[in-house]
Formats: sequence, structure tokens, C-alpha cells
Amino acid sequence: MREVVVVGGSIAALTAVETLRMEDFDGRITVLSDEELPPYTRVPLSKGVLAGRESADDVVLAPLADEVDLHLRTPATGLDLEAQTVLTPDGPVRYDGLVIATGARARRIGTPGQSERVLRSYEDGLRLRDDLRRVSSVLVVGGGFLGMEIASTARELGRDVTVVDLAPPLDRLLGTTVGRHVRAVAERAGVHIVLAHGGVRLLGEPTPTAVETPDGHRLEADLVISAVGDLPNAEWLAGSGVPLSGGIVVDERCRVSPYVVAAGDVTVMATDDGALARTPSWTNAVEQARAAVRSLLHGDDAPEYRPSRYFWTEQFGLDVKMVGPLDPQGQPAVLDGSLDAGSALLAWPDAATPRQVVAVNHHTPPAKLKRMLTGARRTQLPA
Ligand SMILES: Cc1cc2nc3c(=O)[nH]c(=O)nc-3n(C[C@H](O)[C@H](O)[C@H](O)COP(=O)(O)OP(=O)(O)OC[C@H]3O[C@@H](n4cnc5c(N)ncnc54)[C@H](O)[C@@H]3O)c2cc1C
Repeated sequence: MREVVVVGGSIAALTAVETLRMEDFDGRITVLSDEELPPYTRVPLSKGVLAGRESADDVVLAPLADEVDLHLRTPATGLDLEAQTVLTPDGPVRYDGLVIATGARARRIGTPGQSERVLRSYEDGLRLRDDLRRVSSVLVVGGGFLGMEIASTARELGRDVTVVDLAPPLDRLLGTTVGRHVRAVAERAGVHIVLAHGGVRLLGEPTPTAVETPDGHRLEADLVISAVGDLPNAEWLAGSGVPLSGGIVVDERCRVSPYVVAAGDVTVMATDDGALARTPSWTNAVEQARAAVRSLLHGDDAPEYRPSRYFWTEQFGLDVKMVGPLDPQGQPAVLDGSLDAGSALLAWPDAATPRQVVAVNHHTPPAKLKRMLTGARRTQLPA
């Protein structure tokens, strides 16, 4: 294999390039990204960038090695699997091996005439930062991790903040025990939480300044921000023969078809129960890009991909780290501390065989949390 093309311009693409070099691939690497900026991290966009503390300098990741050919503002528009060619507006790009890492974009619920505010790219972050300077009240539609992080930063800036969601924010992701705790902290910080079963409609053109609930209730604010999930950037592959089902379907080694692998937010993979699922998170993008490149280079000799399922969020002064599927059910076992005391380590369904572990303002490092699920903690480690 002499030529590898990586499509995408963020953490999965960057990790793929780094892994190619770590695996001693000494052929040509071309990266096609539709972004203006070189690969950057999205994690601070809802935190330091929105608050005005961080700029492009702080978010751009380690530069790609000099001998990597990075094409910015170059969207891949199609793929010819037979000719092993990626199509772009500047012409076709041939590959021996292809890594697809085109990630996801913000889901929108507004009408085409509305200038709906979302947060996915650095430009979105700058626009919202400027919006936030001008307004006194903010309505966040969607109380997932992103919506609650935006709410947290807006409160930090002294704005009047309301979050509206279909169900109690974070319950579905963190379980009811931790979800309730984070909501209580958010409400103490001054956030209003409103439930709108059935969803809301954005009102106002071009810029929405209100939402309407199914029962006709109207909520108004100077600024309405949608944080209602994301959609994989896979449309450019329609008709190419790449398996698509809510994202690019990859096998247990992140393969898509011969000489083609995919990684990060754009992928779906079979879970233990056989259902296809996305795992959009920073750690998954990094780990899956490493695994994808190894199977591109080493085929069946590469290990199968085993996601660590680690995720974290920072909001309202809480540092929440978790491993395992994001749907803990029932009461957790308390491994250390307590939520009431402000620091806790919790496990589901029990302490002996945890399937999910959540650390709230707890000092356990991510690597140790991951070991708690893999069973490695049962191996004898030096004290
Ligand atoms: C505001 C925000 C905060 C977050 N905070 C956290 C957090 O605290 N913890 C956490 O675990 N995760 C967090 N995440 C999620 C995390 O950032 C993503 O899971 C991660 O960025 C996924 O990386 P990726 O490379 O797969 O995809 P993306 O980051 O979506 O990157 C895909 C890249 O491909 C480019 N692209 C798309 N289509 C094409 C095309 N056709 N041709 C060329 N290029 C294309 C895109 O422009 C983009 O550069 C956050 C996300 C956001 C938006």
C-alpha cells in the first residue's frame, strides 16, 4: 500500500494519520477536509470558546507531519470503490487505502427560512459567543450533554437560562440518580428546566426568539439555541456501495469494504445484542481511528475493535466521567463518597460486576475507570 487517503478534518482523521506513521507506514498520506481550520478539538467549543476564554490557538490540535498532504476546504463529494477514487470538486484522488472520518453535523429542527443557532464547528462557537455577549436571556432546546454544557456556560456569563426537553435532562444518559443530581445543581445555579412532551417548534424568522410546546405554551428568549443531537456526514457516499444505515456500517475491525475503513462519529457498529449503534464521543473517535488504521494495514491480524466506552462532560462545576453504555438503569451501588457530599463513584448494576461506572467530581483517573469494566482490575497490579 503506497497511498492512503483520509477523508475528514478532525480528531478521528488526525488520529488515523498519527497511527499510520506509528505503524511505520511510509507511503504518501493525503487528508481531504472541508474545514477552514486544520484539525481542532470541538470539546472546548461549548465551554472556553463560548465563554470567550479560548480562541483558535487553543483548539487547533497538534499539526500534521510536514510530509502529510492536507487539503483544506476540499469536500469529498463521492466515492468510486472500483476505481479506488475519492471525488472532489478539484478532481478525483486515487487511493490504495482509504480512511473515512467525516464525523457528524448538528441536527436541526427549524424551517429553511430560520437561521437556527447550533453548535458543532468553531465558526458556530464564535457566532454563539458573539450572540451571548448581546443577549440577556437564552433558551436551549435539548438537555443532553451539549445542551446542558451550553446552559452552564451561559449561566456562568450571567444570562437568564432555560432548558427545554422532552424528558428530564440527562436521565436517559446518566441514569435517574445522577441525572437528578446534575439537574439539581443546574437549578441551584439558576437554570430553569421545562419539560415539553412531544417536542417544541421554533418560532421567529430569520432568527428564532421563541418556541411553542405541543399544548400551545410559548417560551421566549433573546437567543434560542438548538442542541438536539447530531447526524452522521454520510450522504456523500450514497450510491457508492458503502453500507449505510444511520451512518457507515463497519465490521468488528472497522472495515467497510476492501481497502476502506471508517472511524468516529460517522460510524455505526453492532453492539453485543446485535443492534447497530453510533457511539459519538471523543474517546471513541480516537480509539476507533487507531483500530481502523491497524486493520487497513494488517487485515485479519489486527485486533478487533473493543471500544472502552469512556465519556466525560463538564458542567455547573461538575466533572462527570463515565464508562459503559449510556443508559444505567435503577439504583447504583456506591463505591466511594456520596453525591450529597459532592464527590461520588457509582456503579451499575452492582459493585462486583459493574457494567457502567460514573464518577462525579471524583479523583479516579479515566484509565482506572476503564479497567473497572474490562476486569483488568482483578489482575494483580503493584500497590
Ligand atoms: C461543542 C461540543 C463539545 C463536545 N464535548 C465533548 C466532551 O466533553 N467529551 C466527549 O467525549 N465528546 C465531546 N464532544 C464530541 C466529540 O467532539 C466528537 O465525538 C468528535 O469530534 C468526533 O470526531 P470525528 O473526527 O469522528 O468527527 P468530527 O469531529 O465531526 O469531524 C469530522 C470532520 O470531517 C469533516 N467532513 C465532513 N464531511 C466531509 C466531506 N465530505 N469531505 C471532507 N471533510 C468532511 C468535517 O468538517 C470535520 O472536520 C463534543 C462535541 C461538540 C460539538
